[in-house]
Amino acid sequence: MNTAPAAALDSLASPVTGHPDWIWRNGEMVPWAEAKIHVNAVGHASVSAVFEGIKAYRSADGSRLLAFRLDEHLKRLQESARICRLELPFDAAGLRAAVLDLLRANRYREDTYIRPWAFPTGVIREQMVPAGALCEVVIDTWPFHSGLDKERGCRAAVSSWLRIGDASTPPRVKAFSNYHNGRLAMMEARENGHDWPIMLNERHKLSEGPGACIALVRDGAVVTPSLSSGVLESITRATALTLLEELGVPVAEREVDRSELYLADEVFFMGTAWEILPVTTVDGLRVGTGRPGPVATVLGAEYTRLVRGERDRYADWLTEIQIQDLYGGEG
Ligand code: PMP
Repeated sequence: MNTAPAAALDSLASPVTGHPDWIWRNGEMVPWAEAKIHVNAVGHASVSAVFEGIKAYRSADGSRLLAFRLDEHLKRLQESARICRLELPFDAAGLRAAVLDLLRANRYREDTYIRPWAFPTGVIREQMVPAGALCEVVIDTWPFHSGLDKERGCRAAVSSWLRIGDASTPPRVKAFSNYHNGRLAMMEARENGHDWPIMLNERHKLSEGPGACIALVRDGAVVTPSLSSGVLESITRATALTLLEELGVPVAEREVDRSELYLADEVFFMGTAWEILPVTTVDGLRVGTGRPGPVATVLGAEYTRLVRGERDRYADWLTEIQIQDLYGGEG
């Protein structure tokens, strides 16, 4: 079934430039240029807004786009909304159909990032948007390039900014306002010549990066902060732990001291956008050999096979969008 609006199919030849043709908004496909809001919506309304970051990968054989763990991401969106007391006007099935319709409408053939978000709508003048306020749901998409096909690493530094905590601003919620904390840490890291910050929690134990969870390897075993360390309940982290178990690599979820980072043989980030991203220096100290280590390398390779549909065992985690269906048989 092809649900793309006719105009989208007419412009099949136009390359994707900067923005998609269509935005999904409250149940409708809206042309990019018409997806507007009043200036009043940018302010306190955004404090309680929640979002998701999802990826659809092109399958290894090029025939399909595969949305990765779509249901888990949409469930987390609903959980974030629940904690923020927002009423989403769409259930999981409605959101799922919306994502798939939008991918078809925007005719992506390549790896695609998907950003659903929900925000209180209307004229918002209250500093504290009331619970249950009327909410809009919007979905945007854009192409991304996976970094998993090449060797890469990043320089990280422990931030002087502590990670927000469950007792104040729960990091378990994927709320836009939580990224104020990560942004401060990121700007500090960049100012000091590093790529990404690593944040400690209120107990001064390891938590996560501004957009990814973190793990380290010591003596062949992976160690990652537990889900009550001030982290988002990361879907990539959960995936990595499953793959590591399959690979026979021991994993511990526990409190991690800052100084353990300096003794680690490997350190790597895990997240939808960052995928499996090796860290090559922490606070200027070389991690291991200074090149991506064997655990992160094998994990990255397994993750690639999984997201590109080469692991039958995890077929349930992939939602297929047939490329032939999208392009009228053109492939
Ligand atoms: N922590 C934070 C703060 C994030 O923004 C993200 C990215 N969504 C993650 C962890 C990783 O979560 P996931 O693997 O579900 O993308």
